[in-house]
Amino acid sequence: MAEPAIELIDIDKTFGAVHANRRINLTVEKGTIHGIVGENGAGKSTLMSILYGFYQADRGEIRVGGRTVQILDPNAAIAAGIGMVHQHFMLVDTFTVVENVMLGAEQSPLLAKGIARVRAELKRLERDHRLDVDPDAVVETLPVGRQQRVEILKALYRGADILILDEPTGVLTPPEADHLFAVLRQLRDAGKTVILITHKLREIMDVTDAVSVMRRGEMVATRRTAQTSVGELAELMVGRRVLLTVDKAPARPAATALAVRNLTVRDERGVTMCDDLTFELRSGEIVGIAGVAGNGQSELLETLAGIRRASSGRITLLGETIDPASGRVDPAAMRARGLAHVPEDRHHMGLVLPFKAYENAILGYHDDPALRRGPLLDVAAMRRRAEGEIAAYDIRPPACDLKTANFSGGNQQKIVLAREMERDPKVLLIGQPTRGVDVGAIEFIHRRIVEMRDAGKAILLVSVELDEIRALCDRILVMFAGRIVGERPGGADENELGLLMAGIESREAAE
Ligand code: ADP
Ligand code: MG
Repeated sequence: MAEPAIELIDIDKTFGAVHANRRINLTVEKGTIHGIVGENGAGKSTLMSILYGFYQADRGEIRVGGRTVQILDPNAAIAAGIGMVHQHFMLVDTFTVVENVMLGAEQSPLLAKGIARVRAELKRLERDHRLDVDPDAVVETLPVGRQQRVEILKALYRGADILILDEPTGVLTPPEADHLFAVLRQLRDAGKTVILITHKLREIMDVTDAVSVMRRGEMVATRRTAQTSVGELAELMVGRRVLLTVDKAPARPAATALAVRNLTVRDERGVTMCDDLTFELRSGEIVGIAGVAGNGQSELLETLAGIRRASSGRITLLGETIDPASGRVDPAAMRARGLAHVPEDRHHMGLVLPFKAYENAILGYHDDPALRRGPLLDVAAMRRRAEGEIAAYDIRPPACDLKTANFSGGNQQKIVLAREMERDPKVLLIGQPTRGVDVGAIEFIHRRIVEMRDAGKAILLVSVELDEIRALCDRILVMFAGRIVGERPGGADENELGLLMAGIESREAAE
């Protein structure tokens, strides 16, 4: 075995009730590209954040080059030769490449040599590592792939021998991703160590020397890439779990409630997130969208909810055709037509955390005549409604005057669910219904969703929890890279779904 660059020993980390890393052991050899795969929420970013000093482990030891180190913050990581390329770049848009590289490296002795020397050093790094970026370009004028190379340059400039990349290709076009991999191979050949987090198994097979699989906070396996297959990795990622069961009768789908035709959505960068999606949702059925996070599911829900503008396509909601690219659709208009939405990112969209629970319980519904007295909001009616929902959903503590920020994540989730589900919508969109929710609440939420289906509601559910999708949904659509790559009945084989989620159409293709 080659010399280890990094050894993580018995690393453990919890966030409240979430056990994000469970006694993780991992050895990364010097001069290799080591992949880490796992489904969303498996604990990959947490582990890397511990290595980079963003978080402190509750327990465990980190060794770099065989020596035990304390990494109390990112500066300590940098001092230990560890660099990180962030998922969301931390560059100053209006600065040039040189300025960004220098930024935050003020303690570096190189700075004293002046900007000309920095530029020369950058030139050398770029040439040696095929990074190909103009040092004097202003960052905001660079395409995403090049901005990422600036992040890499920044880490190298700070003397990184070990480079961590967390989902680096999520924002890249395929040619940009290929270039990135060429850069990573070159860095490895120059003796650097690369840790690459990705959920894309093709990338793992392409570029890594070894791969470790995380599942539900645990490190379940490490393999030499040459000795494993996409099929084995998919199976390790998904695992054979205890099946979540939901008691439900077969669905009795009725009329089409929501029809989506050729819906295309681009994000702020112009990247196509939903690519020509066409599907239907009927009253009385639960349709699940399975997929690894970042494959367009969030953008789809936001567009259907009227939050995000589409580039093209048509939506027909309860017989009325809407042009989602017109810019004239907003959440209030969609709510008025009978659609409710439980956003997945409830901290940013579903709740105003400094508000009291009862205020959040009516957020977006303040035009409801039952809550108004003339031009004013009827606070007593608002509180009564919130108290009813708190009781029905067992929200704890049962205190509708408490600031929402002071409820736990699971109880905040229940506040949003109660608000959206109890408005008697015809169509319900739910993003990550049980993220951060404890087991008892999961059961309750699942039961409520099935009850609503049986009452004839059309339910579209997005979840990265494959178990949840399989247990709850009557039909499953799998999204990959913005497209619907397959449809399966509820309860379909999880390994088959896992492969579809990884963008692989069949098991044969995976071997
Ligand atoms: P991955 O990168 O594999 O998708 P993460 O490491 O981001 O997974 O998350 C692992 C688990 O820890 C998830 O359940 C996530 O919700 C939780 N988690 C991550 N960061 C925090 C945080 N700062 N506070 C609370 N929970 C967190
Ligand atoms: Mg992550």
